[in-house]
Amino acid sequence: MTRNLTCIVCPRGCEMTVLLDENKKFLSAEGNACPRGLSYAESECTAPVRSLASTVLTESGKLLPVKSASPIPKGKLFDAMREIRVALAPDTLCVGDVVLADLAGTGVALVATANAADL
Ligand code: SF4
Repeated sequence: MTRNLTCIVCPRGCEMTVLLDENKKFLSAEGNACPRGLSYAESECTAPVRSLASTVLTESGKLLPVKSASPIPKGKLFDAMREIRVALAPDTLCVGDVVLADLAGTGVALVATANAADL
């Protein structure tokens, strides 16, 4: 069977056709302009992940931009957003500081992407 994918690794957005076996196991892909697309297609068909960017409320009521330190499993995105929605960040956080150490049990940290004092 085949599956059509758009590579999201870079803005070029290559349209790819992925070949899967009868157990939906990745076999090959075509349409990617570089090797990163091949890695993306294999990952997307086996264990899809996404980077997450959002905001967390600070103690003084401002919105602190945050992101996952690395991509997390796609199936954990809603759990992660539930944790982010109720999190409260100290006003002393700086860029790169950890807001949540273990986002939705993934082992990936949620980190600040701005200085809370500059908001
Ligand atoms: S396959 Fe390569 S060039 Fe094409 S979108 Fe993915 S990363 Fe970009």
